[in-house]
Amino acid sequence: MQKEEQPEIVYRFKNALYINLTNRCPNLCAFCIKTKWKMHFNGYNLNLQQQEPTAQQVLEALEKEMHQNPVPEVVFCGYGEPTMRLNELLFVAKTIKGWAAQAKFPPVKIRLNTNGLGSMINKQDIVPLLKDAVDEVYVSLNAQDEATWRQIVRPAPGYEDGFSAVKEFILFCAQAGFDKVVASCVDKTGSNPQAVRELAQSLGAEFYLRSFLDEEN
Ligand code: SF4
Repeated sequence: MQKEEQPEIVYRFKNALYINLTNRCPNLCAFCIKTKWKMHFNGYNLNLQQQEPTAQQVLEALEKEMHQNPVPEVVFCGYGEPTMRLNELLFVAKTIKGWAAQAKFPPVKIRLNTNGLGSMINKQDIVPLLKDAVDEVYVSLNAQDEATWRQIVRPAPGYEDGFSAVKEFILFCAQAGFDKVVASCVDKTGSNPQAVRELAQSLGAEFYLRSFLDEEN
């Protein structure tokens, strides 16, 4: 079966395997490539059509890919916000760490790409849970202030005040001691990248300016 014909729950990009846990997201960013590229990425169909994979299905797909061609990195990404499925994310990530402990595959770095709303979505501070499961956290900060953030990410009702939650999430991640915490901003979307950089660094994160087409989350 060709990769275009059915949705992929695990796909390759650069030197990593990406996990497509969900297409759901409380934001509707103007630049989101899931809209721009009609749910396709690099030849893969990522449209789950509301059939989200179970943790077991993700692990089976990952195991198959790792047997074929092992990679040094696994990324929870999307199209969608991975923390919408926190339990599955944690289970899959811990299982991958278990594989490494058993030397089943070469060591794998685990990264989460997130919009930073995970604690708000799950109504609890999820940073301690993530700390046991993932190594690096990349957060789409996207703006230097709340008004600009709302304009750019267009949050769903109930998430209008999410900018504070995103900042707190980044701060808590930086304090928790992940291997890497990166806050990003997409260029040319109406924010002030220098001001976003200063905010990211004040929260203890590294800063990354994505070009429009780099946006992965
Ligand atoms: S947070 Fe990410 S997945 Fe959600 S709408 Fe924005 S770019 Fe798309």
